[in-house]
Amino acid sequence: MSTLHPSITDSRAVLQQNLERIQEQISCAAMRAHQSIPHILAVTKTQPVALVELAYSLGLRDFGENYVSEALEKISALQLSVPNHQAVWHFIGPIQSNKTRLIATHFDWAHGVDRLKIAQRLSEQRGADLGCLQVCIQINISGEANKSGCAPQEALALALEVSHLPHLQLRGLMCVPAALDADASFEARRAPFDAMRDLFEQIRAALPQAHAAAFDTLSMGMSGDFEAAIGAGSTMVRIGSALFGARA
Ligand SMILES: *Cc1c(COP(=O)(O)O)cnc(C)c1O
Repeated sequence: MSTLHPSITDSRAVLQQNLERIQEQISCAAMRAHQSIPHILAVTKTQPVALVELAYSLGLRDFGENYVSEALEKISALQLSVPNHQAVWHFIGPIQSNKTRLIATHFDWAHGVDRLKIAQRLSEQRGADLGCLQVCIQINISGEANKSGCAPQEALALALEVSHLPHLQLRGLMCVPAALDADASFEARRAPFDAMRDLFEQIRAALPQAHAAAFDTLSMGMSGDFEAAIGAGSTMVRIGSALFGARA
């Protein structure tokens, strides 16, 4: 039965099982916490385009990538194999200045905006015909040294500035909390996500009304911690390995 090169049919069955299991876990977590069911952002970094196509055929529409050149290959490949597709591409990695033009041109969303200079470049470089780039501000919620993300106490000022940029639509906040030991309590896992939720509410209350209405996204929760994130009100969970298996 087992083979080193599983056929595409096997991959499809495995992916479908994983997806159904995760959807079930997401629904249960949301129900337990009286929260809405978040969107699934399928994180396809390091995975071949064939898996993106399978995921698309199973109904997934939002795809997350961390590396620009790898992503561009998949974006064009999907365009060829599924013309007029409805996929939405999210850049979820740290954003370097020299990559802003490619991100602004080829992606629908950027989740890793953490300073004004990057936001300004994305806005300037977004083609006028493309509509606004949807952005989340990344928060260094665990206060880790050398980690991407804006400090929580600087987030409101940055959000107000980003909300005024003409070719960006500020959608919300994103985080990747510090990794915890496997035996960490549920409360310890919840704490950074609860802090994100509080910050999100504070910023939404301070935004001008027109911007507050579009500020609707809490991008948080990955394969290892999405249930805790959903408990705190995540609206978009970014799932890679639980769907597609461990990355090489
Ligand atoms: C890789 C990655 C994910 C997905 O991680 P998994 O643990 O595989 O689900 C989510 N968000 C970001 C920012 C990532 O870099």
